[in-house]
Amino acid sequence: MLLEDERSGLCAIGLRLAETGLVTGSSGNVSVRVGDLVAVTPGGVMLDRLRPEDCPVLDVEGYLLEGERAPSSETPMHLALYAATDAAAVVHTHSTYGAVVATTMTELPPIHYNVLLLGGTVRVAEYATYGTPELAAHVRTAMEGGKRAALLANHGGVAIGRDLDEAYENARLLEWLCGVYVRSRMIGEPRILTDDELQQVVERALTPPVFPRRS
Ligand SMILES: [Zn+2]
Repeated sequence: MLLEDERSGLCAIGLRLAETGLVTGSSGNVSVRVGDLVAVTPGGVMLDRLRPEDCPVLDVEGYLLEGERAPSSETPMHLALYAATDAAAVVHTHSTYGAVVATTMTELPPIHYNVLLLGGTVRVAEYATYGTPELAAHVRTAMEGGKRAALLANHGGVAIGRDLDEAYENARLLEWLCGVYVRSRMIGEPRILTDDELQQVVERALTPPVFPRRS
């Protein structure tokens, strides 16, 4: 079986997405790339009930190589992100706060310094019908400039990573940031971090404090 370990990895991430509430039922999809091969979750299957053999394998051009079930309808978006970025895994969800921000805003502003882990301000990709090449193109544009996540207008969010765990963590961070933003708007006007403040965070991360050992 092609990409056996990776297809098992998709099942594990599917379960985690369901357990943490990022995905409800079959409303999300995940893929992982190794070289020219991509394993993706199938369409219309509950993500917490996947088996490795349920997950089809395609090449990066979208030709089906193995698997009886049809690939997720959002596979064109996954393939577009592999073509345009260094991603080795993609997680797409309809997580609640991500969908709320994607329905009302054109970007998620930097209200918390952890947004830097996603490449700064998260753009909302222009609306297009799900599963279409147009949506894939809009998402690719929204990811330009080294972004690790994007929101999809009136739809949800997508995150990439160098492996499945990182893509999952980026999807979880995106949802957390959107949750903080939405709740902040309920009690006031959130303060947006300035470029200078964000730059100082980058510099701080590059020079962590040293704690001398007591002898
Ligand atoms: Zn979707």
